[in-house]
Amino acid sequence: MDKKMEKALGKQLNAELYSSYLYLAMAGYFHSVNLNGFASWMRVQAMEELTHARRFFAFLVDRQIRVVLSDIQAPPSDWKSPKAVFEEAYAHEKKVTAMINELVSLSWELKDFATQAFLQFFVNEQVEEESSIDAVLQSLNLVENQASGWFLIDKDLATRSFLAPVGLTI
Ligand code: MG
Repeated sequence: MDKKMEKALGKQLNAELYSSYLYLAMAGYFHSVNLNGFASWMRVQAMEELTHARRFFAFLVDRQIRVVLSDIQAPPSDWKSPKAVFEEAYAHEKKVTAMINELVSLSWELKDFATQAFLQFFVNEQVEEESSIDAVLQSLNLVENQASGWFLIDKDLATRSFLAPVGLTI
């Protein structure tokens, strides 16, 4: 694999771990304000991000790359409202989408077809990520910072469960 591609995929592995850390921080915030359904949703999200990181790790190993991990940045710890949390989550996923698109561009440039095929999962996944976070954000917009509305959304978000992707191994 081209060194530029290797470095960029390693950076994305770190970004997926940061995403997991960010969503776990958001879960911590939600627990602290007794919105445990929101917290549970974020904990599922954090688990999903770990599976993303795992995909990058496994792909690099399969391509005979020696994976060297770097520091994970500390996420923020406080937000002013549930809406502020989801606005940040949405902005974060937009950023991740841009990063994935950059990786795809690089794989084209390098004619690295195996990496292109691998990244296709993430191109599709980012559509889902932006859509699911936007759906919660739209619900939060409807209730306009009313605690009674938060409780309704909280009950709904509590129903999300973590489904390990088919074929996922450690
Ligand atoms: Mg991700």
